[in-house]
Amino acid sequence: MTQDPRRRVPRTDAVLADPRVVTALGTHSRERVKAAVVAAQQRARSGEIEPERVVDETLAGLPSRASSLTPVLNATGVVIHTNLGRASLSPRAIEAVVDAAGYVDVEMDLGTGQRSRRGAQALAALRSAVPDAGDALVVNNGAAALVLATTALAAGREVVVSRGEMVEIGDGFRLPDLVASTGARLREVGTTNRTHLRDYVDAIGPDTGCILKVHPSNFRVEGFTRSVGVAELADLGVPVVEDIGSGLLAPDAALPDEPDATTSLRRGAHLVTASGDKLLGGPQAGLVLGRADLAERLRRHPLARAVRVDKLTLAALEATLTGPPTPTAQALHASPDDLRARTERLAEALGRQVVPVDGRVGGGGAPGVPLDGHAVEIPADLVPGLRRPSGDVPAVVARVDGGRGLVDLRCIPPEADEDLLLALREALAG
Ligand SMILES: *Cc1c(COP(=O)(O)O)cnc(C)c1O
Repeated sequence: MTQDPRRRVPRTDAVLADPRVVTALGTHSRERVKAAVVAAQQRARSGEIEPERVVDETLAGLPSRASSLTPVLNATGVVIHTNLGRASLSPRAIEAVVDAAGYVDVEMDLGTGQRSRRGAQALAALRSAVPDAGDALVVNNGAAALVLATTALAAGREVVVSRGEMVEIGDGFRLPDLVASTGARLREVGTTNRTHLRDYVDAIGPDTGCILKVHPSNFRVEGFTRSVGVAELADLGVPVVEDIGSGLLAPDAALPDEPDATTSLRRGAHLVTASGDKLLGGPQAGLVLGRADLAERLRRHPLARAVRVDKLTLAALEATLTGPPTPTAQALHASPDDLRARTERLAEALGRQVVPVDGRVGGGGAPGVPLDGHAVEIPADLVPGLRRPSGDVPAVVARVDGGRGLVDLRCIPPEADEDLLLALREALAG
């Protein structure tokens, strides 16, 4: 008579003592390993697996990654893809993050052992990248930079904004709501399509905290329009804050309409706010650049502590600013010929067609600027499956457009082309 297999299911203690499981305890919490053991025992009891396979099943049930965030190959052609974590950090920035993960001298002068200005090196890098700025500040993200600026300069007073710049940026993030949440009052001037200098002049008075200019990053008003640039607003006697959004520090010839911090400051903005993880290609951060006395008011405001950045961000930001071109810059400036050659190689290896496509900057940047590119066409119904990684096959996020699946190589580093080929082969093989 054969023994009931359920009685051969190993006990939890025995599984936990298995050398391979002991090794796994070096990388997973005891609770997580126990849960995997219990699940494996359950499958053995129900007859789904042989009792001898409980250890294998336990190990298979443990995630291979330290976090459940899954790295993906961004084949969408959208360079700053908010749902994919915006900018991909440069290898140099990744190295800096790893170095900063332990104890570091983020707020200590190792020479004297005394406390130093937090993140001084990252701030110095930012200031040398934008010599026109009298001072710089780094906070948690672009929205926090805006909140801190309007709070410190205008809480209980008025923030003057053109009606043409009352924008919703994405995911329900509305500028008017954000400013209202700071306790400042919005003083709207002009109309949706036209705002004149006299609209600002009429609105300014003793109650004005600052003028806010916002780059309407994700849309354009065309036709009968008029807006007032910072140059005209700079001498009205109140601080002018310009939110440029995407974080270019200096002009980029490939994105002629995209604002940048240097130009904005030269034109007269007193403070510029921007994101770190859009076109700058760095970590999530909010940058504030401009007049030293205003930056100091922001730094001294109690809210500054609540929007402070961590050491990992400071490390990544400094490495981004002082390192080679970022993956974001490489994707934006990718040579059309190179892209085409890589796309053709991939298509040929798969026996698929190459089609012309427009890539996009994304992240609210340069809405009107299509990036000339090419993609490998695949059946649209394969796109969902490509997003699921398995074994050595990475997750690939492709795009569906006009009923076609499109695999765009713009945001894929060339060294990942082999991985991409592998993933597409598997998907096409069904
Ligand atoms: C993206 C953006 C923001 C918000 O920045 P986050 O870094 O996402 O907080 C604010 N203003 C403009 C104009 C933007 O484009």
